[in-house]
Amino acid sequence: MLTAQIDIATDHREFRDSIRQFLKTQLPERLRCGARSTPTVFAEPEIAREWQSILFKKGWLGYNWPREFGGTGWSPMERYIFEKECAVCDAPGLPVLGLKLLGPILWHYGTAAQQSVYLPKILSGEHYWCQGFSEPGAGSDLANLKTVATKQGDHYLVNGSKIWTTHAHFADHMFCLVRTDPAVKAQRGITFLLIDMKQPGVRVRPITTLAGDHEVNEVFLDNVYVHENDRVGAEGQGWTIAKFLLENERGGSCHAPKLLADIGRVRRDAAREPATEGGRLIDDPLFASQLAKLELEAQALEITELRILEQLNGGKRPGPQTSIVKLVASNLRRKIDALAMNAFGTIGLQLETARPLYGSTGPEAIYNKEAQVAAPRYLNSQAWAIFGGSNEIQRNIIAKTVLMI
Ligand SMILES: Cc1cc2nc3c(=O)[nH]c(=O)nc-3n(C[C@H](O)[C@H](O)[C@H](O)COP(=O)(O)OP(=O)(O)OC[C@H]3O[C@@H](n4cnc5c(N)ncnc54)[C@H](O)[C@@H]3O)c2cc1C
Repeated sequence: MLTAQIDIATDHREFRDSIRQFLKTQLPERLRCGARSTPTVFAEPEIAREWQSILFKKGWLGYNWPREFGGTGWSPMERYIFEKECAVCDAPGLPVLGLKLLGPILWHYGTAAQQSVYLPKILSGEHYWCQGFSEPGAGSDLANLKTVATKQGDHYLVNGSKIWTTHAHFADHMFCLVRTDPAVKAQRGITFLLIDMKQPGVRVRPITTLAGDHEVNEVFLDNVYVHENDRVGAEGQGWTIAKFLLENERGGSCHAPKLLADIGRVRRDAAREPATEGGRLIDDPLFASQLAKLELEAQALEITELRILEQLNGGKRPGPQTSIVKLVASNLRRKIDALAMNAFGTIGLQLETARPLYGSTGPEAIYNKEAQVAAPRYLNSQAWAIFGGSNEIQRNIIAKTVLMI
């Protein structure tokens, strides 16, 4: 039975305890501290990669991958338990673009050669991927994309530009949507290519966010070479592949465990005795009731995510319900980060202005760093309502495909 405080069935308790034991002994304090003080949506590669290599050595990095491709072959419930325990222990986020978005594309649509070349390098961390979908004028209306790939013998030459490309400045590869046929209906002329970023003709220009962070970029492609062996699926199949990928992007992760863990942290921080005059924030009835409301909403989200897991267990795809998950999770993310900012007040501003992300340990150091990143984290959290399809687009999908069934 599903309950708000998820009741792990007896046959999963041993599994859960083995994850807990591993995290207790193998997740270094400095990585936990780094994860807690990350203001951006993605963890810095410096932190994420170290955690990735620890999981890789253990054989758990492909925790949502099938065994035949180097994964654990865990069931959806086991994956969920793993994500929940990681969230509770402040494990850093993993590089999702390769692990959670491209990996499944290659299992489903890739050739045997693409699978054997790329999948092991995603898992080992040798390749760091970014996602080249959006363009100026092609975000919500993705089918309007203009970057063109022209076939020349056995290869394509790609020309155009991408925007909002997360971590393109760290990436050595980009999976990309391009137009190969301008004459047919927009969706049917799109193709999915794998691009080597370390070649002439690829230029990355930073975009600084509202919070002052460099997480996203513009990417300019000028006669960029892609061998036809690096086309995934057939020419014109890119739209189908993109839809599959977006479904995974919106619902491929369980968001509730991390959201609930963060609510617990806000509650704990708000229960500290204030350094200056005034009572504890947690004793303010308005603050306490706002927090309780968010907790209830996050628990309800957890139930929805578990329902989707049951569907996956039954061999079905999650489908457009992932839009509900994305919408609810992005709203919760922003509200929780707003309350966290309230909990810290101006403490962060009184600390040193640099934002060290990595290195120091101990509860006091973590508290100080969290105070410093509370405001930038809140500003960055606004992006949740935009990336992977904006809230308005998710509502449109829910209206058309879930409510009208
Ligand atoms: C932090 C961040 C990271 C990102 N990372 C990546 C990445 O790595 N790779 C990548 O390819 N893209 C990335 N994106 C881009 C993201 O997918 C797009 O920003 C998003 O799809 C919205 O597109 P847009 O910015 O062009 O806005 P627009 O599509 O121009 O939308 C502007 C506004 O109009 C609304 N709107 C548009 N169409 C409709 C409609 N039909 N009905 C109702 N309202 C509508 C939108 O909701 C929005 O409020 C990222 C974005 C952000 C903010």
